Amino acid sequence: MPKFEALAKKTQGSEFYNNLPKGYKKGRTKYIIVTGSVISGVGKGTFTSSLGNLLSLYHGFRVAPVKFDGYLNFDAGTLNPYRHGEVFVLDDGTECDLDLGTYERMLNQNLCRENYITAGKIFKTIIDKERAGKYLGRDVQFIPHVTGEIKNFLRNLAHKSQADIVLVEVGGTVGDIENSYFLEAMRELSYEESKENVCFINVVYILEPGSLGEQKSKAAQLGLRTLMGMGIQPSIVVCRSERPLKESVREKISIYSNVPVNRVINSLDVGDIHSIPLFLKAVGIDKEVINILGLKEKKPGKAGFEIWKSLVEKIKKARKEVNIGITGKYITVHDSYISILKAMEHTAPHLGARVNVKWIETTKAGEAVKELKGLDGIIVPGGFGARGTEGKIACIKYARENNIPFLGLCFGFQMAVLEYARDVCDLKNAASTETEPNTKEPVICILPEQEEVKGLGGTMRLGGYQVKIKPGTVAWELYGKDKVRERFRHRWNVNTQYINKLEKAGLVFSGMAPQKRIMQILELPAEKHKFFFATQYHPEFTSRPLTPSPVFRGFLEACLDK
Ligand code: GLN
Repeated sequence: MPKFEALAKKTQGSEFYNNLPKGYKKGRTKYIIVTGSVISGVGKGTFTSSLGNLLSLYHGFRVAPVKFDGYLNFDAGTLNPYRHGEVFVLDDGTECDLDLGTYERMLNQNLCRENYITAGKIFKTIIDKERAGKYLGRDVQFIPHVTGEIKNFLRNLAHKSQADIVLVEVGGTVGDIENSYFLEAMRELSYEESKENVCFINVVYILEPGSLGEQKSKAAQLGLRTLMGMGIQPSIVVCRSERPLKESVREKISIYSNVPVNRVINSLDVGDIHSIPLFLKAVGIDKEVINILGLKEKKPGKAGFEIWKSLVEKIKKARKEVNIGITGKYITVHDSYISILKAMEHTAPHLGARVNVKWIETTKAGEAVKELKGLDGIIVPGGFGARGTEGKIACIKYARENNIPFLGLCFGFQMAVLEYARDVCDLKNAASTETEPNTKEPVICILPEQEEVKGLGGTMRLGGYQVKIKPGTVAWELYGKDKVRERFRHRWNVNTQYINKLEKAGLVFSGMAPQKRIMQILELPAEKHKFFFATQYHPEFTSRPLTPSPVFRGFLEACLDK
C-alpha cells in the first residue's frame, strides 16, 4: 500500500480519491463510528451523545460529533416536523436533525454545518463538482468518489476542529440501502487511517419476546454478521435490552463477533437521558475506548461533569410538580417539540420541580380553552400556517386575562401580538399576512428582506442574532445583561407601523435587533401580570443542562409561584 500521505497526491489517475486537508496528520484525530443493528430507534443517538459527554466533560478530550443522515434532502429545513420531529437550528443557521440538538445539550458545545452530513449534501457536492469539471473527465463513481467525498468531509471536520476525537453517528440500521455507501466509506477510512485510529461501536437490540420470556440474540448476531460482511469489525458491541443481559447472551454475542466479552456492554433503559453518561462510566466503556484508540489521558476537565452529576441528583430529588400546557398542531409527535421539553426537563430540577406536560389541540378554539383549567403555565410554541391559530390566540387571551404564566415562542410571539392588538388596541381584524395575505390590519407582516426570497430550504431568517435588551424590564431581570445572542427561524415579524400603538396600549417590546427594527421580545410589566413573555427567537435551542435558558427559568419560577 502506498504511504498514507502519498494517497492524496496520487488521487489523479489513481483508484484512490482523497483530498486531504492541507497539513492533515494521520493519527492526530481518532475516529469513533457508531452504527446500529436490529431496529431503528435503538437509542444510538442517546448512546453516542452520552459517550461524547463522558469523553469531553469528564476526560477533557476535544470531541467533534457528526451525524450522518441517509435522506436525500440537503438538510432538515423542508422536513415536516409531524413526520420527522423538530427541525433544530444551529448558530450558523443550519437547519438540521433534532439529534444535533441532543449533541449540543449533551456536549455543551455549539455545533455548525460541518457537524451535519446528509446524503443530499454529499450528492450535491458531487454533482456540482462534476458540472464544474472538477473530476477531470473521469466517470464519477460510488467508489472512490462518493466514499471519497464522505472521507473528505470527516477529515475536514477533524482538521478544522483540531479534535482529539471525531464521533460519527451513522443514521439508520446496518443493511439499509441508504447508508451502505457511507459504511463503505467508514471501512475505507479505517483502512487508510489504520485500525488503531478508528473504533467501531455497533449498538444492537436484544429481543425478549413476551411469549418466550427469554432473551434472544439471533437478530443481533445477524446484524453483526451484516456489518462484518461489509468488512467492518466492531471493537465494542453495545447491547440494549429491557432487562439485564444474561451472561450466556453476552458470550454468544462475543463468539459471533470476535469482540471480547468485556467489550460486549449492556446498556439498560435508564429513563433519564442525563444519567446515561454516569451509567456508561460505571460500566467502563470510556476506558475501553481510550485503550482501543491509544488515547493519551488528559488532565480531565471534571468541573462540568461534577455539575452534570449534581443535575442528575436534582432530577432524582425533584418533588414539586408543575403542570404546563403546550399548544400545537403537531401534538401527536412529541419529538416535534423536543427542545422545549428538554429545556423544561433540565431547568425545572434547579427549582426542585418536575414538569408534567399537557398537549392542547387548538383546531377548535372553544375546546382548547376548556383544556387550560388548572394548568400552572401555558406555552404557545413555533408553528407555520393557519391551522389552529385562532385556538392559540384564544389560549393566549385566557392566559393574559387570568394571570396565568405564558411563554410564546416565535409563532407564539406573533400570536401574542395579534391577541393584544385585537383585544387591547381594538384592532379587531389584526392578522398575520402568513395566514391572511389580504388582511386589512397586517400587524404581523413578512420581513422586508424575505419578500424577494424564492425557495423554501435555508431561506428564512436563520441562526444566531443579537438581541438588545431594554433595561428595567422582565427580560433584563432574567438575562442580567443588555445584549444576548439567540437563535431564530422565521419569515414574519411585527409590522413596524403598529409598534407605537401596541406600546401605547401597554405592551412592552423589551428586546429588539440592534440595527434593525425587528421586535424580538415582548412582555407585560411584572406589576400587571405574573409572567407574560414571548420571544421571536427560540430560547429552547440554546438552553442546555449546564446552562439553562433564563427564559425557561423565569417562566417555570412564575409557574411554581402558585
Ligand atoms: N411562521 C412564522 C414565521 O415564519 C413563525 C415561524 C416559527 O415559529 N418558527 O415567521
